[in-house]
Amino acid sequence: MSDYSFDTLQIHAGAEPDPATGARQVPIYQTTAYVFKDADHAARLFNLQEVGYIYSRLTNPTVAALANRIAALEGGAGAVCTSSGHAAQIMALFPLMGPGKNIVASTRLYGGTITQFSQTIKRFGWSCTFVDFDDLAALEAAIDDDTRAIFCESISNPGGYITDIPAVAKVADKAGLPLIVDNTLATPYLCRPIELGATLVVHSMTKYLTGNGTVTGGCVVDSGKFDWSASDKFPSLSAPEPAYHGLKFHEALGPMAFTFHSIAVGLRDLGMTMNPQGAHYTLMGIETLSLRMERHVANAIKVAQWLEADPRVDYVTYAGLESSPWNKRIATVCPKGAGALFTVALKGGYESCVSLVNNLKLFSHVANLGDARSLIIHSASTTHRQLTEAQQIAAGAAPNVVRLSIGIENADDLIADLDQALGQA
Ligand SMILES: *Cc1c(COP(=O)(O)O)cnc(C)c1O
Repeated sequence: MSDYSFDTLQIHAGAEPDPATGARQVPIYQTTAYVFKDADHAARLFNLQEVGYIYSRLTNPTVAALANRIAALEGGAGAVCTSSGHAAQIMALFPLMGPGKNIVASTRLYGGTITQFSQTIKRFGWSCTFVDFDDLAALEAAIDDDTRAIFCESISNPGGYITDIPAVAKVADKAGLPLIVDNTLATPYLCRPIELGATLVVHSMTKYLTGNGTVTGGCVVDSGKFDWSASDKFPSLSAPEPAYHGLKFHEALGPMAFTFHSIAVGLRDLGMTMNPQGAHYTLMGIETLSLRMERHVANAIKVAQWLEADPRVDYVTYAGLESSPWNKRIATVCPKGAGALFTVALKGGYESCVSLVNNLKLFSHVANLGDARSLIIHSASTTHRQLTEAQQIAAGAAPNVVRLSIGIENADDLIADLDQALGQA
């Protein structure tokens, strides 16, 4: 299956006609449990000697089809689906971390992630150091003996900045640490973090992968390439795991160690499971991912160019514009385009931003992105509200900017809507 091109994999990977009924589309297996053939079969499943279904907190056929499809699209060894993008981030860190351990993360992240990493993970005894990932010396200096992962977004929310993933991966490699890349804004169609050196890829499937604003979901994809046994830093994977009758996951499962740990321990004990109905909607969305992303990118370029030339606009952060300092990274990091999320600063400042948001007719004012519909939000007062002004500015969410998520409508209609609303701002 992995020999097929992206356009084919997005429709076929992970799914076959249903073995029980021949149903062509992946059925929604709305079931909690699965009948064991006999006691021996049950024991083999619980011992991970045989792959199969036990209980839907762990695995479910609809959710598994989605996990296998996203693993194929990202070029990973395995994947696990989660109840949200934020759950995916905790699930990615969970096998790596312990009390007193830290991660080093980019300052340019989704506001909710900055809050999760700077505040909430402290309750687990974990901590995070934030640095500018364009300053590789600062990144290297921030890593210490207790660091267990490096975290960044391929294209960052809300500014649409592009991270130099190969350069960051080199630093992670040298330190013997896994690089986790949040690929939500790019999707595997625009960016393939594993090919660029990432160990794990996380997604909010809530966004472009579903693509229509119907699902909250996430996933963690493992490259299968990291040597968890090269140091004693990752005992959950390399040493006997007390939470799973002393199984040595890496030794027993090789490149599938992380994925199996995520299911057998992570989903079992944290319970951040995706539901089959949501997985079904996301599977439907992924079938058209490449088509949608091409239109998202084409529209974003048109709208960003129009905005940049407008006298009411101060600046536009879209990396797809030649004026962007991140434009030159497109060729290596996201060769099919810089996505469709960016911010616009208005000369009229905060007041003009509020007026723009209030007067748009076609754009919806919502806290979401990656919908087929065009969306707008004033990040500083919403998604990035819990941050200090310095954090807001570092994340690209200053008070004088609005964030646009360009949809797949007709670009001229979007421009006309922005024009009339800016006229009232
Ligand atoms: C939305 C988002 C998240 C969080 O995902 P949820 O599905 O809302 O939990 C994480 N990272 C990025 C880049 C996002 O845009």
